[in-house]
Amino acid sequence: MPDPLAHLIENNRRWVETITAQDPEFFGKLAKQQRPEYMWIGCCDSRVPANEIIGLLPGEVFVHRNVGNVVLSNDLNCMSAVQYAVEVLGIRHLIVCGHYNCGAVNASLDDMAHGLIDFWIWPIKQIQRRNPWISSLEKGRQREVMCELNVVEQVSNLAECKVLRRAWAEGQLVDIHGWVYDVQDGRLRDVVVQLERDGDTRALISAAEAAIRARAVG
Ligand SMILES: [Zn+2]
Repeated sequence: MPDPLAHLIENNRRWVETITAQDPEFFGKLAKQQRPEYMWIGCCDSRVPANEIIGLLPGEVFVHRNVGNVVLSNDLNCMSAVQYAVEVLGIRHLIVCGHYNCGAVNASLDDMAHGLIDFWIWPIKQIQRRNPWISSLEKGRQREVMCELNVVEQVSNLAECKVLRRAWAEGQLVDIHGWVYDVQDGRLRDVVVQLERDGDTRALISAAEAAIRARAVG
């Protein structure tokens, strides 16, 4: 029986050839050590691949993805990745990137039952409950605004987690950036929020939420 994935193996062979033609030592150097400057926390959505969007090669961005780019302090997977990124790799910039047309965000806005995923998107639903003004917007705009507010929420969660608290208390330089990606044109939108070690985290989060609201309600 022919291998239905043979084309992927062939793609891989060509990809290795292309990279090693540019830098014969590329994989040898990477095998010894990874030294990424950036961590990407994004959605599983196939249209939002971290490396490609920001033009980085393997070894240049440490990636964690889950449904809806959610950061929860009780998610051992996400928190382990963040801890490794900050404490072992000494990552300088943590990027939480949401995207428009996000299935998880859209599902959080409808009143239908989706099964298991409803447990996962429950924290996203709470953002809507805390921001009842969203319901006055038309549906498409509600979805966009929720993607933006979700990024701010997850940046806030990241800033509150023990790993970041400890890193900042010890003077480590690590910033958190919140971005939104538009799947319609492949562009990253304006930075939604940016937090630094000595910044007033709560004030910056509130200001980011207020700016999103002001843009949305006009
Ligand atoms: Zn998504």
